Amino acid sequence: MKIVVAGTGYVGLVTGVCLAERGGHHIVCVDVNSEKISMLKSGISPIYEDGLEELIKKNNDLNRIEFTSDFESAYGDADAVFIAVGTPERSDGSANLDYLKSAAKTIAENAKKDILVIIKSTVPIGTNEQIEKYINKHKKENIRIEVASNPEFLAQGSAVRDTFEATRIVIGVESEWAKEILLDIYKNFDNHKLVTNRNSAEMIKYASNDFLALKISYMNDIANLCEIVGADIEDVALGMSFDNRIGSNFLNAGVGYGGSCFPKDTKALHWLSNSNGYELKTIKAAIEVNEIQKLKLAKKSSDFVESFNNLKVAILGLTYKPGTDDLREAPSIVNIRYLLERGAKVVAFDPVGIDNAKKIFGDTIAYVNDIDSAILDAEMCFIMTEWEVIKNYDVSNYKKLMKRPLVFDGRNCYKISEMKDNGIEYYSIGR
Ligand code: NAD
Repeated sequence: MKIVVAGTGYVGLVTGVCLAERGGHHIVCVDVNSEKISMLKSGISPIYEDGLEELIKKNNDLNRIEFTSDFESAYGDADAVFIAVGTPERSDGSANLDYLKSAAKTIAENAKKDILVIIKSTVPIGTNEQIEKYINKHKKENIRIEVASNPEFLAQGSAVRDTFEATRIVIGVESEWAKEILLDIYKNFDNHKLVTNRNSAEMIKYASNDFLALKISYMNDIANLCEIVGADIEDVALGMSFDNRIGSNFLNAGVGYGGSCFPKDTKALHWLSNSNGYELKTIKAAIEVNEIQKLKLAKKSSDFVESFNNLKVAILGLTYKPGTDDLREAPSIVNIRYLLERGAKVVAFDPVGIDNAKKIFGDTIAYVNDIDSAILDAEMCFIMTEWEVIKNYDVSNYKKLMKRPLVFDGRNCYKISEMKDNGIEYYSIGR
């Protein structure tokens, strides 16, 4: 089959490359961003994901994958098209489907043979049906066009591995024809496949993401109470993790979730629920807890200084989690803004996120390439991302290099005893 993937972002590019790697079909990736396409043509990945660039080069050389901005030829004779464009949040919390509709229209206008359109983007329940009607209204040829749902569960930072080792491939279809095409596309993927209808597939994605966000907010809520009543969230989480019904993942307390998914997907489902006359109280609580948690370090640190004016503050970690260069909705952003508004001088370190941080903060903050330079003469330090290089840092340097060794750790990177032994004023989450 000729399979086109529309959108070469974290989801589309990884999907296209992993499909090419497994073989059996010819993959064509398209994007409206021609800069991304020219980078990809030369074997350069526009995003950072472990192992991705090697696979792009390998499959490019083997002619199993191609990258193009020529939508007409890409869609003209395609058997299937994955849509993996962004579905960001609107100001009212609902999902913005403009990119999706635009991709759907281009497919409708260029498809010349029967084609299955597969929506990989996270979309509100009912969107697949809506897009199917939309495409059939705009199509130019008398061809069969159906829409199927195939939501994505990869996590940034481990996207390639997550795709190959996916815990499930969810296929939401309304016909045997669509089901057979999707099973054929994934014939070389040995992962568990769940076939259901489109609305359920769409809901599986939101319900999964929102459950994870809820789990994070729940642990952060408990961590905040631990601080008040003198319990240690690390031991509490460990104790909880032995219960199989709870599981051991996603029990880490911290400064809240960020990224391009949890924040928008919680708000989108809450919005959808409200607009159907039902309030999802659990998700509302997850959102509220997270909003407060994101600013926890900034608020906590305020008690330690008279003023932030001209105070040098080191920020270690900018991305919303380790393993990615993505800063979308990262807790670091609101904390840096809080500090800048109060006149602090911010110096930031991140192993891969600096280019994206520059797009947000420009020259309002300073950027450095190592931890030593970030904390040198700083009067306060915030740890925002649990990068290995931060976790493995020789903590005695905080005392040696900082003007005042005052560390606020939003990711519980160090042992309290170790920090105390090294003479560091150390505040973490829930301990
Ligand atoms: P992204 O912003 O990284 O990439 C989207 C890409 O689509 C961009 O390169 C953009 O230029 C391109 N694009 C926009 N309009 C287009 C069009 N008409 N035709 C072709 N390309 C077009 O987004 P992402 O993070 O990959 O997310 C995509 C979708 O997948 C979202 O709905 C998201 O919620 C969902 N999702 C994301 C993740 C994740 O970890 N990032 C995980 C699971 C699901």
